[in-house]
Amino acid sequence: MSFDRLGLSPDLLRAVAAQGYTEPTPVQAEAIPIVLAGRDLLAGAQTGTGKTAAFVLPLLQRLATTPIRGSASPGRGAATAARGAPNGRGPIRTLILTPTRELCLQVEESVRTYSSQRPVRSVPIYGGVGFDPQARALRSGPAVVVATPGRLLDHVTQRTIDLRTVEILVLDEADRMLDMGFIRDIRKILALLPVERQNLLFSATFSAEIRQLADGLLRDPAFVQVTPKNTTAELVRQVVHPVDRERKRELLSHLIRSGRIDQALVFTRTKHGANRLSQQLERDGINAAAIHGNKSQSQRVRALSDLKSGRVAILVATDVAARGLDIEALPHVVNYELPTVPEDYIHRIGRTGRAGIDGDAVSLVCIDEAPLLQGIQKLLGRGIAAETIGGFEPDRSIRAEPIRFRSGMGQPAMGGQRAMGGQRSGGGRSTGGHAASGGQRPVHGQRPAGRGGTPATRGASPSRGGAPLGSRGGNGAPQRSGPSGTGIGSQRVALPGERLARQGR
Ligand code: AMP
Repeated sequence: MSFDRLGLSPDLLRAVAAQGYTEPTPVQAEAIPIVLAGRDLLAGAQTGTGKTAAFVLPLLQRLATTPIRGSASPGRGAATAARGAPNGRGPIRTLILTPTRELCLQVEESVRTYSSQRPVRSVPIYGGVGFDPQARALRSGPAVVVATPGRLLDHVTQRTIDLRTVEILVLDEADRMLDMGFIRDIRKILALLPVERQNLLFSATFSAEIRQLADGLLRDPAFVQVTPKNTTAELVRQVVHPVDRERKRELLSHLIRSGRIDQALVFTRTKHGANRLSQQLERDGINAAAIHGNKSQSQRVRALSDLKSGRVAILVATDVAARGLDIEALPHVVNYELPTVPEDYIHRIGRTGRAGIDGDAVSLVCIDEAPLLQGIQKLLGRGIAAETIGGFEPDRSIRAEPIRFRSGMGQPAMGGQRAMGGQRSGGGRSTGGHAASGGQRPVHGQRPAGRGGTPATRGASPSRGGAPLGSRGGNGAPQRSGPSGTGIGSQRVALPGERLARQGR
């Protein structure tokens, strides 16, 4: 499938080609024609699937080809309609809501990138920075505003923004916005928009709360679901290092010092664990920083730019803190602790192996985590190679202990598959917890059979361990698998009770 069969205009195709994209990802292939047709859309897609271009490209085209509402005059040129008035100023025609500042900036940058051939004024609006420069930027008459909900409402209160002209609304990472307690803000914002508009809702998971939001928001929506399960597997070498519970930090320091891991995003289950680990690494003489939901925006942004620039070698993060961050070409992701939700493993390792560059996903797994590893391998449909590092062989006399979770966190069904979305540590504002999952089962995309791969690690010569810890069906060899092309598996499914899936293919 090539981009030019999706109905995109030549200028957008040029912008896409300039990015080096040769074919649309599944969510793009499915969503773009739907959005171009003016339909509402519910899309199950997470970061790494190419979801941003899936809504930005067609919405730019809609702006270019439909007259500004209320000013429709037969002779009005499409280009003028896109930019607003002839001087480039005009009403806000598209509002994109994102949960975090980072995502807001990334999406707004995508708007600029994809509109490079036919510029469209866009403005990012987010908290933690000065208000007045944003108010000034809004006065410049952007056609597209990308915003986090809280700061957007501040502008509403100060009357520095008028949302009555919005024609297209996008909720990006809607599940995360709800996780962060933005539902009331979102409802307030919805009440300020014109009733007649196109709505696009993107979410990685479908909890009862998301469904409720979607039901109230979307009109006769088309439904698209993709899963990035194999995206990551395509370019990511995955390996498990069995290690004792108490020796993980020592092993991580060893892997870093020996040069096997240089620049890495390291995942812990809890905020406290992230802080503690980064401090311990610092004591080991390794430049490390931690990010999690409790950190201020500026601290998180600084930590991220420090990792990107190489000032910090190791960024320790919780799942919540890392979702939505676009850290390009990150060579390593380390699961210092396995996630309790198998799908989070996919999210985590999606931080590496991007943009056609190989990456390593290294998991330090102790005996307590064997059931979690089993759950992950079950989700992947294959085993992950285990490799014991010399000097860190697990002590076989150590018995498994229950995994400790921070207070207030329920004990998940160990090793079993949970529905997507659910307990996540951290988070911003809270409305008192995440709603129970709506019972949506994880979608299993196409799973091509694994094929033999390259050694799972570079550099040192570890002793090969036996079967993967807790593996079922693992063959002990590093495996790489994934479909060709973008490597992003796609499967369209009807959600239980969903009144969707009507768009033609
Ligand atoms: P997203 O899921 O929107 O965060 O996108 C993930 C990454 O995929 C971004 O770095 C995009 O630049 C990249 N990307 C988006 N569409 C394509 C495509 N069709 N082919 C290759 N890479 C893409």
